[in-house]
Amino acid sequence: MVLVKLKYLNYVKDFNFHDSLCYFCLRRNFPDLKQDNKKNISDCLICQGIFYKINEIVKRIFYIVDFEKKYDYQSFSIGTSLPYFMFDKEDYIRSLYKIKDIENIKSAFNFEIRNKFKSISKKNLNLVNPDIKIDVFISNNNDYSIKTTSRSFYLIGRYKKTKLLTQRDKKVLENQSRDNSNFTIQKKQSIEMIIQNTLSDCIKSDRMIFSWCGSEDDNSQVLGKGRFFYVHIINPRQRKVKLNKIFSNNGLDFKIIEKKDFLENTNLNFRVKNKIFVKTANPISNFYLRNLKELNKSIIRYYYKSKFIYKKIYNIQFKKLDPFHLIIILECDNGLFLRQFIEGRKLMEPNISLKLNNPCEFLKYDILDILIS
Ligand SMILES: [Zn+2]
Repeated sequence: MVLVKLKYLNYVKDFNFHDSLCYFCLRRNFPDLKQDNKKNISDCLICQGIFYKINEIVKRIFYIVDFEKKYDYQSFSIGTSLPYFMFDKEDYIRSLYKIKDIENIKSAFNFEIRNKFKSISKKNLNLVNPDIKIDVFISNNNDYSIKTTSRSFYLIGRYKKTKLLTQRDKKVLENQSRDNSNFTIQKKQSIEMIIQNTLSDCIKSDRMIFSWCGSEDDNSQVLGKGRFFYVHIINPRQRKVKLNKIFSNNGLDFKIIEKKDFLENTNLNFRVKNKIFVKTANPISNFYLRNLKELNKSIIRYYYKSKFIYKKIYNIQFKKLDPFHLIIILECDNGLFLRQFIEGRKLMEPNISLKLNNPCEFLKYDILDILIS
């Protein structure tokens, strides 16, 4: 530090305020002096004249924000990063002249640039929770670069599907190397892709991150009010979203029901009403069939990932289709492994095969509704 300061001594020996500092740096450090020096000093000892570039920088920011990226915003914040030597030189001059408790170069620069941008953009300055955040980086030779990001938000939606669709394109990636044509078809059909493509038409962004309230089988339908999903929109260009408008695309209906700045807890407890198609190994006995009623309001227990899991059955109804087939309408906690519950595998107790005294095969299921507990 001492070495760095020594190199400024040459300047300071014959230091003349009016010749060595620009109007901004002079006014800031020596507010009591008569500030008649309004000429442009591009080689200002402290700032190298960066204050005189503010107009240019602000025009550039305005161009990027309003014309290049076309942000929809009401509020902004601007922060700057200045070369270290500017602070160092200012500190040195201040210690030499025992100047204390006054604004430093960074906050003075921020003040100027924020006010200029405010007047050109006609938007509000908001340092706490702005719609867009602008970062200006000044390099050692007074070049600058600008980075802009907008505040992300979350959308909460629900979807229903009547066609066979995969929820996300995890399988797509696996298939990609094997068969390229298959890749395009599957990609087009994943729920995530359909929702993302539809939303992208109204909201441009850098990225959308999806989370789903429970996963499901590709072959199942999702009916009723539909399944919840959440989308985190990163660096959105638009902020307005039409709520409750139903988008229909390729067997999928979805709508956005809420827009939020933050998502406190996505681990909602919910119940699922399933329609399960079951095949039995032996003819179904009416005697044992009545046993299924005992599962009403019962708790199913199983061991998973080194702990016991408990899931509640809220309602069970069933219909024998023929001696070897039945349909079960099951309203239960989300997350119950249906195949294991039907087939009685992995120590799940009670289970359907056990109650029917007949080995059962899980054929398929549809989701009739999803209910928040
Ligand atoms: Zn200056």
